[in-house]
This record gives sequence, C-alpha cells and structure tokens, in this order.
Amino acid sequence: MRSKTSKNCMIIGQGIGGTMLAWHALQGGWRIDVYDEGALKSTSHHSSAIINPVTGPNFVKSWRTSELVPFARKCYQEIQTRLQGDILIEMPLWRHVHDIRAENLWRSKMMDAEYEDLISIHDNGFLLDQFRNANLFGRVDASFRINASELISSFRTLLKNEESLKEETVRLENLELGNGFVHYQGRKYDHCIVATGYHGVVDPWFVTDAYRPAKGEILLCRLNSFPRELMVKFGKFIVHLEDDLFWVGSNFQYDFNNEYPDKDQLSELNEFLEHSVVSPYEVEGHFSGIRPATKYRRPLIGTHPGYGNLHLFNGLGTKGFSLAPFFSARLIDSIKRGQVFETEAFRKAFQIL
Ligand SMILES: Cc1cc2nc3c(=O)[nH]c(=O)nc-3n(C[C@H](O)[C@H](O)[C@H](O)COP(=O)(O)OP(=O)(O)OC[C@H]3O[C@@H](n4cnc5c(N)ncnc54)[C@H](O)[C@@H]3O)c2cc1C
Repeated sequence: MRSKTSKNCMIIGQGIGGTMLAWHALQGGWRIDVYDEGALKSTSHHSSAIINPVTGPNFVKSWRTSELVPFARKCYQEIQTRLQGDILIEMPLWRHVHDIRAENLWRSKMMDAEYEDLISIHDNGFLLDQFRNANLFGRVDASFRINASELISSFRTLLKNEESLKEETVRLENLELGNGFVHYQGRKYDHCIVATGYHGVVDPWFVTDAYRPAKGEILLCRLNSFPRELMVKFGKFIVHLEDDLFWVGSNFQYDFNNEYPDKDQLSELNEFLEHSVVSPYEVEGHFSGIRPATKYRRPLIGTHPGYGNLHLFNGLGTKGFSLAPFFSARLIDSIKRGQVFETEAFRKAFQIL
C-alpha cells in the first residue's frame, strides 16, 4: 500500500529534467510513468554536461553555485551507484585567459577567499602548444562533467525495467485536468509534470512569451595528439569523451528554422578547428541541440495557476545539468508536502503576483 505522501505521477520528457524528476520521485517511493518520444530528440543526450562553478568573461560564480553544485555532485554520485556506470567524471576545465586584462582579473580572483579553491594557474605549456595564438590557460579546479548519453540511456533502461517508461509522444491538449486528478488515455494520475525542454514553446497549458530557445551545434572529433582527461575553453569548448574522441562546440543561434544540424555551422566548427587547434582532426559526427533558455535566464518551475496537479519543469537553459538535480528535488518535495514551489522566473512568466 502507498504511503500518504507517495504519489502516482506522470512525467512528460526524459531529458535531464525528466530524468532527475523521475529519480527523486522513485526515491520517494512514488509510482511514476515517464513518457518520452525518443532519446534522439533530447538536447540533454548531446550536451557536454559540464558543471562549472566559474563562468562568463568576468570569471564569476554561476547563479546559486554553492547550493547547486554540491547538491548535483551528491545526486549524480548516488545515481552512479544505482546505475553502476561511469556517470560523474572529475575533469578540470582549462580556460583560455586571452589578454593581460583577463589575466589580471584571473590572478586577482585567485587571491579572493571566495574563489581561491575554485580557480588556479598551473604549468599550462602543454596546452599552449596545442593552440595557435594562445596566451595563458587558467584552471577551474572544482568542475566536472556528466556522461550525459550514458546517464540518459542507462536511466531509460532502469525505467523500462521498473515498467515506468512509455515511449510515446504525449498530446498535451489531450490531458484532462480537474477534481484532483490528471487523466491521460484512460490512465489516472495524482500529478503531471511537464519537462519537455524546448518543445515546451508549444505547450498549450503553459503559454508564455518567456522562451528564448537557443540552438547549438557540435562535432564529435578524433584529435589524436590532443591531451586527454580535460576540458578546454578556447572560444569554444573541447571536451574529452574517451580514447581520442572529443566533443567540440558550440555556438548560440536564436534565429533558427529547424532542429537539425546545419551545413554553415559545420563549416564554422571546421574553421575553428583548422585555425585554432594544432592537432590534426577527423570529424566523426555533427549534432545539434536546443537549449530551453528563457528571457529571464532562469528556470521556469512551478505549478499551474489554475490546476494544482499540473506542474512545469522547464527553462533549464545553458545549465540543465547543474540546475536539474536541485530543482527537481525541491519540486518533488513540495508536491509531496502539498506545498507550492515556484521560481521567480515562473511567477514572472505566468504573471503570478
Ligand atoms: C550544445 C549544447 C551544449 C550544452 N552544454 C551544457 C553544459 O555543458 N552543461 C549544462 O549544464 N548544460 C548544457 N547545455 C544545456 C542542457 O543540455 C539543457 O539545459 C538540458 O539538456 C535541457 O534538458 P531538458 O530535460 O529540459 O530538455 P531535453 O533534454 O530536450 O529533454 C526533453 C525531452 O522531452 C521529450 N518530449 C518533448 N515533448 C514531448 C512530448 N509531447 N511527449 C513525449 N516526450 C516529449 C523529448 O523527446 C526529450 O527527450 C547544453 C546545451 C547544448 C545545446
């Protein structure tokens, strides 16, 4: 028999958002059905999934990093133990510090008590040799990455084994809401959480002009003489995956017509490798993903103003892998307690005063 706080929940989408929601719901003993139309459509699957506490041209701490990053680390470690795969990969991120102004800033941050455990400078000659016109590389020590494709696909297998996966497209307009339940195709749930990533722009229940989806394209490349077990930011990211295979990307396109990889972007990425990287390379694959970004640059998470059983988990933007563990735990916990959890961006987007 289910406990009073245990729920029967429908989760739509199994990117990193839906995966983390499902994880916390299962941990709480909930009965869940995760509906996902297919791994190939998930942005999460192709993400570099870097968790990096110091970002931007001014090397500042990311939003709420001191809560989000330790929480994410613990969560991924627990999932890794359950899935018995290599999910969390400790990996320093080396950032190109491109001129004297940036170098002064980096060095001053290193002396700052808030940053001294996060960034440093080490011998970086081995990287200077790899790039044309490089100045200096600083190291972000507290960064790591998630093996996104492994996490999403292994978790999918777990859901299948638990008979909690429905590989189908949900027609959101066919959800029936009311009387404390959500009905879908003859099934009855206590709650429904919509975690459809950039597909959320057409969600009929959560209509807002806050979405600013940003397409990004990447190459999977063989770089046989490039150093391994590291991530480098030199304008674009180069992230070691396995053996001599690297993830190279990305850009931000706000004005795009479709979700598929584009020839022009392929040329741009090839140009980057030819002009910036010394190592010979061979392209193995070209992919695209669409970040579910918002004009507030913050996640849209909360409960429908008119239907207390329908929730949105979206707007993970450029940092889904840092944000999803913490915010999914908050949302699941609030639902369990019968409380409302809403991010500030959600309130703004749906004009909840
Ligand atoms: C090039 C690139 C690099 C990135 N690098 C990083 C990084 O280093 N670190 C980081 O933290 N983030 C990064 N991001 C951002 C991160 O990938 C996203 O924030 C995250 O993947 C969003 O996850 P999501 O679960 O919201 O959406 P998605 O991953 O898109 O998942 C949504 C899922 O819902 C399913 N779905 C949609 N509609 C329906 C429906 N009607 N019925 C059934 N299923 C449906 C889709 O098939 C999909 O599987 C990057 C993104 C890109 C594009």
